[in-house]
Amino acid sequence: MRLSDLKPGETGIIVKILGHGAFRKRVMEMGFVKGRQITLVLNAPLQDPIKFHLMDYEVSLRKSEANMIEIEPITEFDKEIEEKINVEPIEKESQKANKAKTINIALVGNPNCGKTSLFNIVSGAHEHVGNYAGVTVGAKEGKMKYKGYEFNVVDLPGTYSLSAYSPEELYVMRYLREETPDVIVNVVVASNIERNLFLTTELIDMNRSMVIALNMFDELEKHHIKLEYDVLGKMLGVPIVPTIAATGWGIDKLLDTIIEVYELQNPDTRHIHIRMRPEIEDSLRLLVDSLKKEKDLPQRFSPRFLAIKFLEKDPETQTMLRDYPRYNEWEGIRGSLNSRLEKELGEDASAIISAEKFGFIQGALAETMVSQGDKDDNSTKIIDAFVTNKLFGFPIFILIMWLMFWATFQIGTYPMEWIESLISWISNLLGEHMHDGPFKDLLLDGIIGGVGSVIVFLPNILILYTFISFMEDSGYMARVAFIMDKLMHRMGLHGKSFIPMVMGFGCNVPAIMSTRIIESHSSRLITILINPFISCSARIPIYVLLAGAFFPHYGAWIFVGLYLLGIIVAIFTARLMRKFWFKTDETPFVMELPPYRMPTAKATLRNMWAKADQYIKKMGGLILVASIIIWALSYFPRYNENDIPEDFVVTAIAELPPEILEDIDGERLEEMVLKEYQESHSILSYVGKFVQPVMEPLDFGWKACCSLLAGCAAKEVVVSTLGVLYVGDDDAELLSVRLRTPSKITGKAPFSQASALGFLVFVLLYFPCVATITAIVKETGTWRWGLFSVLYNTSLAWGLAWITYRIALLF
Ligand code: GDP
Ligand code: MG
Repeated sequence: MRLSDLKPGETGIIVKILGHGAFRKRVMEMGFVKGRQITLVLNAPLQDPIKFHLMDYEVSLRKSEANMIEIEPITEFDKEIEEKINVEPIEKESQKANKAKTINIALVGNPNCGKTSLFNIVSGAHEHVGNYAGVTVGAKEGKMKYKGYEFNVVDLPGTYSLSAYSPEELYVMRYLREETPDVIVNVVVASNIERNLFLTTELIDMNRSMVIALNMFDELEKHHIKLEYDVLGKMLGVPIVPTIAATGWGIDKLLDTIIEVYELQNPDTRHIHIRMRPEIEDSLRLLVDSLKKEKDLPQRFSPRFLAIKFLEKDPETQTMLRDYPRYNEWEGIRGSLNSRLEKELGEDASAIISAEKFGFIQGALAETMVSQGDKDDNSTKIIDAFVTNKLFGFPIFILIMWLMFWATFQIGTYPMEWIESLISWISNLLGEHMHDGPFKDLLLDGIIGGVGSVIVFLPNILILYTFISFMEDSGYMARVAFIMDKLMHRMGLHGKSFIPMVMGFGCNVPAIMSTRIIESHSSRLITILINPFISCSARIPIYVLLAGAFFPHYGAWIFVGLYLLGIIVAIFTARLMRKFWFKTDETPFVMELPPYRMPTAKATLRNMWAKADQYIKKMGGLILVASIIIWALSYFPRYNENDIPEDFVVTAIAELPPEILEDIDGERLEEMVLKEYQESHSILSYVGKFVQPVMEPLDFGWKACCSLLAGCAAKEVVVSTLGVLYVGDDDAELLSVRLRTPSKITGKAPFSQASALGFLVFVLLYFPCVATITAIVKETGTWRWGLFSVLYNTSLAWGLAWITYRIALLF
């Protein structure tokens, strides 16, 4: 809680002082130190300032200042205990202060410098890591305990500077303004230090507690570059700790240093001013003096930082300052500086400030960096010579894609068969040893039938994700965007739009979120809307199931056909939208090509485990629940022989093929008729039959319709629902066999080859799952695009499925 939250008469213990260095120094000099007891005496008539009692004297603080002091309240209860057991108040106070040893840390740095890797190591999380810019979107929070402190770590999106031009920059700037982390960890890439330190100079201006993590230290050593980082740290007034986030090397030292800085015990920490040209310094001094006269200026940024940002015409800072009465005076200072600089140097203040900062960095590096030869990474050059080559680029990409799908479907079959037989074995065992009744039916038909039919695909999905994450982590994904740029331009999109498309093979939800790397609004929107057509891994179970059941010999062609169809529909939709909605595109293609990095086994395994965990959780959650609901809806109400009307029995028997009728005994026949009646009069059957007329032209039965409806929740549910609804006579019979076996009563199989093909096309294109729609609505900011996606995709799915079915009938 903050000091400003106290009410008159209440007491608290100071835990920490937030805000920039100068402010902290001033209030600490006044006696606001950690562990001290402080009582609010009274508020001024207008609530501001507030009078406090501290160390036998009274001080007054502004509300905005009191808001920067964190306290732990002392309750009446605490006081009572204190009186009873007569604890020395001092001891009690320090105890209280120790209890709140929480350090809030924000990870700030350029894109692709290893912030998320560091975050994962520190907090044990499994956040998405990739070797290209723009992987992390939004802030992620994690916690860890270390040496009696609790670390609250926040991973922020990458940013090159703290101006408010791109959404990421604005996000980081607002975060630093509103959340006031105790220590900022500035992650800096060792091998690209010059550009990385630019952001550091801005953080230094801000004058907040900071530690630099010199990450990817291994690369520096690999290139035989020596950097005297201790000296550099002393120069910058910020301690520098070398780390290798990919392996966890140096993290302990980093955490120790963070604690030191937090406890104000680090010898290297001091506040420096990065001096600039006299003209700029003169104007800055004027501005800072004038800013300081505004009593309720935001205490989170130092006046120098605000003044520099104001001179740079940073939109966010201008908005922050606009309402102060002295704003016109400040604008005057900036105007005269700019006209002076324009006349003398032909440039405005913001250009010169950047140049001066880079000059400062170069100077600092010249004194501390010793390069011994090959700074250029030859391996990256050699790989790129092939991978981005005019002739080889595309074949290599197609080969990798082919390998990815081949491994997913072909290699994945073996472990899949093992899991399948394990599940059959369990069903058999339960089937033999359990007593008949609803519970047995629930377990065998509902849970094992539903969840079991989907869980078998876990190996395939892990293989697919391993490929995707290898492409992302190695840096190949950025090259894919690069070679695809020209083709994507024909669709009116960027090369960058291709990354979400490849990621969509895994799951559409993170793919849609990753579109935030696309600056152009219209390109981003189109990329989002075409993503559901990219066949995600949740659709794999349906393909494997139906292709295996109906086209055992051309399975591979069916897969290729479906993936291609998805891509073609995506391209078609993109072109259509470009033509009719968004005629022009705004921003050109800028994307960093990072050096190749071999993903570590640790990171790969972590990633794989995260995906497996996610999949198993989905099985145990959504899919389990859906299976049970579907089972219950199809199981109830229960009927017995007496409920069946006479004419149902007559028609059923009349429809039976003669050869079956001949060799079936009476009891067995009765059982079959009851089962048929039960199924076709369950609650679910009414739902299915309500929808079925729409699907009649595609020849989908009511059970298939139910599975499609349920599949709106998640596409795996289509398979689990089919698994629950098509119950075989034999518990261990594979679902794929059940789907092509004709019913003994109607003589009709659940699917024909043609309707199975139509079903596959429909599932590929129809209603994106609920999670995807949520992502679309969130990322586009309006439910309209979510609704559009539902309607457009489903009607397209119907049309194309119908055409497919009709064509297939001809063969
Ligand atoms: P972010 O964009 O700053 O969040 O960076 P990521 O954590 O996503 O990492 C970018 C890439 O650098 C990934 O491919 C990581 O595997 C890799 N990486 C991270 N830290 C290190 C490191 O210390 N050494 C090396 N060689 N690679 C690293
Ligand atoms: Mg990241």
